Amino acid sequence: MIDDTENIFDEHLLHGQQRETDWRFMRMALVEAVAAFDESEVPVGAVIVFQGKVIASAHNQREQLQDPTAHAEMIALTQAAETLGSWRLENCTIYVTLEPCPMCAGAIVQARIPVVVYGAADQKAGAVETLFQLCCDERLNHQCEIRGGVLADESRELLRVFFSRQRALGKK
Ligand code: ZN
Repeated sequence: MIDDTENIFDEHLLHGQQRETDWRFMRMALVEAVAAFDESEVPVGAVIVFQGKVIASAHNQREQLQDPTAHAEMIALTQAAETLGSWRLENCTIYVTLEPCPMCAGAIVQARIPVVVYGAADQKAGAVETLFQLCCDERLNHQCEIRGGVLADESRELLRVFFSRQRALGKK
C-alpha cells in the first residue's frame, strides 16, 4: 500500500518534470512562430531537441522561399540531420506549435523521430491525431509517442491574430 502511494507520487513528479520540459521547449518553438508572424508567414515554429539540447530551430518560410515544403518541421528536420550527420533522428524530440500536416507527419516518421510534442490541434490539416494518425499507424515502419495540446492556447491565439490581420489586409 505504501509502495503504491510512493509510485503514484513518483509518477506525478515525473509527469510534472516532463510538463516543465515540454513547456520550456514549446516556448522556444513559439518564439520561432512569432518570428514567422513578423515575416508575414503563417506563424508556426518548431525545435528539435537531442539529449536536452536544441539542435534545430525553424519557422514556416513558405512565402519567402516560395516553397510548398518550407514548413517549420521540414526545415528543422533538415537542420537536425545536418547537425547529427544522420537522417535517423533517433533519441530526438520535435516540438511544433501546430499539429503537423500530412507532409510533415510523414517526414517525422521517415526521420524515425521517437517523440512528437505539438501545441494546437489542426482541424484542417492535422495528421498526427485530428484527421489522420500517421505517427502511430502500425502499417508504417515507425511509430512515435505523441503529446498534444502543449501551450495550445498561445499557439492558437497567434494563428487567430495572424489570420484576422490577413483578412483585414484583404489577403486570404
Ligand atoms: Zn507541414
